[in-house]
Amino acid sequence: MLPEWLSVKPATTERYAHIKDRVRELSLHTVCVEAQCPNITECWSGGTATFMVLGSRCTRGCRFCAVSKSAIGNAIDMEEPDKLAAVIKEWGLSYVVITSVARDDLEDQGSLHFAACINAIKERCPETIVEVLIPDFQGNEEFLKNVVDARPDVIGNNIETVERLSREVRDRRADYWQSIELLKRVKLLDKRIYTKSAMMLGIGEMHDEVVQSMRDLRTAKVDFVAIGQYLKPKGHHLEVKEFIKPEIFEEYRKKGMELGFRYVASGPFVRSSYRAGEHFISNVVKADSTH
Ligand code: SF4
Repeated sequence: MLPEWLSVKPATTERYAHIKDRVRELSLHTVCVEAQCPNITECWSGGTATFMVLGSRCTRGCRFCAVSKSAIGNAIDMEEPDKLAAVIKEWGLSYVVITSVARDDLEDQGSLHFAACINAIKERCPETIVEVLIPDFQGNEEFLKNVVDARPDVIGNNIETVERLSREVRDRRADYWQSIELLKRVKLLDKRIYTKSAMMLGIGEMHDEVVQSMRDLRTAKVDFVAIGQYLKPKGHHLEVKEFIKPEIFEEYRKKGMELGFRYVASGPFVRSSYRAGEHFISNVVKADSTH
């Protein structure tokens, strides 16, 4: 049974229903649905949705993740960049997050498709701030560069958990330091791009390890971090070891700010893409661009 601070469900709205229908009509995917995100109603009602490109089947098998898995992913929808840009324009979104499943089966691991999506959005909706939450591309710099060169405003890659638990929790092709190195390289390739990472708590990590992870991210000059509670999706997934109290999340938030992040979203319902965080990041990006 969930503790009382995790039992609140926001009400469904018409906007949420409209967005859901439209996404289905265009055969687009959202991480909000595929990953059974607990914030779906709140985010979509507020006009923020995280789109998932490159299909709905992931080539990896992270133990916490509800996205369906397969050694070969879906065929790429070459019209996806245009459809995405059209829907973003239609809804007048000022901030969008584009993420994907891992595509280890593709020659470029999906990096050029990311670039095409960013370019299409920038062309049709020049005012929209674009965040991409990318796979680690197995550390391949050329693939990372494909994305960096398209110049999204924010690039994220999630460490997901502390170093000690990384092997147990994530797919064996993922690696704690590979993620941090990737974020570090974004800044070396283009320091104007903001970087972001996220982790889930409640899977057996210790307090000091969480703080150490934030320090490790800061050594790579990561700007934003999101810290939330892990909730087990339906089916055979990693068990929750602990429900972290809201006041402990608040401690991590303060610690993260002390360590120098531009923004720390930390709370039981926080996910890597989260409306409140996006609102803040959007203000940072706009404020910096006027200087
Ligand atoms: S890489 Fe892991 S976390 Fe990401 S979609 Fe695939 S299984 Fe889920």
